[in-house]
Amino acid sequence: MRVLLAASEVAGFAKTGGLADVAGALPRALAKMGIDCQVVMPLFDSCLRTGRCEPTNLRCRVPVGPGDGIEVEFWRSTLPGCTVPIWFVSAGDLFNRDQPEFGRGLYQFAGTDGSRRDYPDNGARFALFSRAVLELPRMLDWWPDAIHANDWQTGLVPVYLREHLCNHPDQGIAGRARQISTLFTIHNIAYQGPFPPSMMEWARLDWRLYNPSQLEFYGQLNYLKAGVVFADQISTVSPTYAREIQTPWFGCGLQGVLLERADRLSGIVNGVDYDEWNPSVDGHLPARYDETTFEIHKPECKRALQARLGLPSLAERPVLGMIARLVEQKGFDILKPAAQAFLTQGAQLVVLGEGDSRHRQMLRVLAEQYPNQVGIYLGFDEKLAHLIEAGSDAYLMPSQYEPSGLNQLYSLKYGTPPIVRGTGGLADTVTDTNADTLADGTATGFVFQDYSADALREAGLRALDIWSRNHDQWNAIVRNGMRQDWSWSRSAASYVGLYRKIRPAH
Ligand code: ADP
Repeated sequence: MRVLLAASEVAGFAKTGGLADVAGALPRALAKMGIDCQVVMPLFDSCLRTGRCEPTNLRCRVPVGPGDGIEVEFWRSTLPGCTVPIWFVSAGDLFNRDQPEFGRGLYQFAGTDGSRRDYPDNGARFALFSRAVLELPRMLDWWPDAIHANDWQTGLVPVYLREHLCNHPDQGIAGRARQISTLFTIHNIAYQGPFPPSMMEWARLDWRLYNPSQLEFYGQLNYLKAGVVFADQISTVSPTYAREIQTPWFGCGLQGVLLERADRLSGIVNGVDYDEWNPSVDGHLPARYDETTFEIHKPECKRALQARLGLPSLAERPVLGMIARLVEQKGFDILKPAAQAFLTQGAQLVVLGEGDSRHRQMLRVLAEQYPNQVGIYLGFDEKLAHLIEAGSDAYLMPSQYEPSGLNQLYSLKYGTPPIVRGTGGLADTVTDTNADTLADGTATGFVFQDYSADALREAGLRALDIWSRNHDQWNAIVRNGMRQDWSWSRSAASYVGLYRKIRPAH
């Protein structure tokens, strides 16, 4: 089986979020399972900066934009640590413009007032990329059984496949194209790529597609909707999120379109890279441990964490940890009142994050109020993230929504039972502690349902109560979580099942 995975970011070359981790790790896991997989992404400056990309003599004109199209060159490399080929689409400075020191990212730049703004030509950039992806099989004479497109940046891939390639004047190409099926994965439905209708012309899409059942969404051309409507199969990054996005609050307006395609929609939880996130081999920790030695060595990590954030190193104080982008999604509004209750009980709170000034301010105030109990680091720090996972007693993830989530999976592995809201991937990966789940050995954390400070407080206090009064029970919960396998090989097996199931509609 041959799979071409298209994504706008791939870990090791360019990254703004979880999509890059999936696009980097899934192909490697697929290759281990014997799938012939190749990857394609845009050639950003961050790719060139790795020094690992090399030019090839593959070039072509892509039929988008004015005149006789836009010239692109393909560069190549392999995914870090394996032999999976990755191709890069280079098109002048259309992609190659990201320079963090000048405030320029992959999709956005910093305005004069410091606020982040989308590049005005994002519509053209990712129409070109999506159309260029489909030139690759012809140029390599390597025809995939499935193309796996991801998020709005590749939403037009299934459209171009059906509209341009399957109707190609060269019957050989059209015939091959009709054998290709498409999977479109939504990593976060809040980002949809809406563009003015005039993009239809530039993207060379037929105006008959510009209607509410296909590409139009409230007066705009919507790339994510395009992927949802035209792909043969749709997936998202957890079964619960797949259900949630069919409802108004989570669906961000696309719930109706997804409901219509519900028979083609499923969810697969993202995997963890256990080479990177595993307390038994983690080089960032002062001591390493597994499920047989955590009682001896985890306390060393706790002491190091307390010292690192300027808190008294007290073994008898439970430490609650949190690492998150400081954005509304992550639940800082309900954390603030609930945290007071945990601190009153004597707990310590450690938070690592960067993001909105409103949440930064809230955390600063809390740290000033409770200097011996609240330790914060406002910034990005990979090493500290590992230390928080290992050194905390329990982990907080009170998200409003969480398509898949990684930190709760790290917490399970690090023996740090997660306290989570039962949404998206959190609902699918954490099992609440109660008499039944304790008895059958499935309890791994503490789950609450309402998005409210009261519900978070209740779940947190339940955790603190067991932690302080019943060590055996707590250790059983820790062990249950540490024994679980949320590796990529597990997720990749589910993706292979999906690739095999898809049949091209054209
Ligand atoms: P999301 O993708 O919504 O940000 P996830 O839980 O899926 O949330 O993944 C977040 C990832 O980013 C985790 O690996 C987490 O440890 C890391 N991370 C987030 N903020 C920071 C930070 N300030 N410093 C270090 N790592 C961070």
